[in-house]
Amino acid sequence: MNCSVCGKDAVIDIPYMNKRLCQVHFLDHFESVFMKEVRQQIKFDSGGGTVSVALSGGKDSSVTLYILHSILSVRRKVKVKAFTVDEGISGYRDKSIQTAGELCRSLGVEHTVISYSEVFGTTMDSEVTRLRGKTPCAVCGPMRRQLINMAAQTQGSDYVALGLNMDDVAQSVLMNVSRGDMERISRMAPHSHSVNGLVRRVIPLRRLSEREVVTYALLKNIKYDHSWCPYYAQAQRNLFRKIVSEIEEKYPGSKLAMIRLQEDIAGRYTNPGDLSLGTCRNCGRPSSGQLCSVCMISGENDDGNQ
Ligand code: SF4
Repeated sequence: MNCSVCGKDAVIDIPYMNKRLCQVHFLDHFESVFMKEVRQQIKFDSGGGTVSVALSGGKDSSVTLYILHSILSVRRKVKVKAFTVDEGISGYRDKSIQTAGELCRSLGVEHTVISYSEVFGTTMDSEVTRLRGKTPCAVCGPMRRQLINMAAQTQGSDYVALGLNMDDVAQSVLMNVSRGDMERISRMAPHSHSVNGLVRRVIPLRRLSEREVVTYALLKNIKYDHSWCPYYAQAQRNLFRKIVSEIEEKYPGSKLAMIRLQEDIAGRYTNPGDLSLGTCRNCGRPSSGQLCSVCMISGENDDGNQ
């Protein structure tokens, strides 16, 4: 297999581009796609500001931190920080927190940990014992989102970067299509407007596939935690992961088309006025309804990711 650009040995084939790339041209492609997304998604009002990376210790968020740090921390007025959400999942999260901390230390990036136990007084391991028919991600997803926002606010950040790749985003689009939830599609990250109480979420990996992210981490020798959450097997997202992969294999470029669809919907149906939020009457955190999703904990939030 030879590189479509220079003819040297290729390290990866990318069917949606109909290209095979050698190490040099793959790294070049990966970093320019990432850079383009950063330029499009992150716009500091006064030329400077702070971006927090929600760092799980897995491949996607580790690669996100690695590149954001290399391109943004050279700018005098820009700070890159990181935090990890500890859901309280024994044998899984403790290991990835360690890996996340090591990456931050090696890059000289400030790293904090925020936990379900300190904020909600519970852990996911305790919650799964009283799920009452819900899947673990339906309970965990809303709690995670609240803590991600809370940690980014505490770090004084203008943006919070999530390590969601092309596969993750395409799955979320299809999940929301299957629920007929247009509003939720239009509210998906990246967010260009600040909404009262919510830090803007950005997703610079959204046009890079999971396979490309793994290849990049390998070539750059970025250490990440390879383990999976023990509750992931029960997530509704698994079915959509399988469907999206099958569609992409048969029709390369479909995942990117789903991302373009989301952008199109967000552009047509969202304006800053639509995004104003109130507060949850129970806990006082930002909410579009009377109760926030954590206080409601409904099965409709079973997405495990966004
Ligand atoms: Fe929580 Fe589900 Fe993610 Fe596990 S896979 S950390 S239960 S959202």
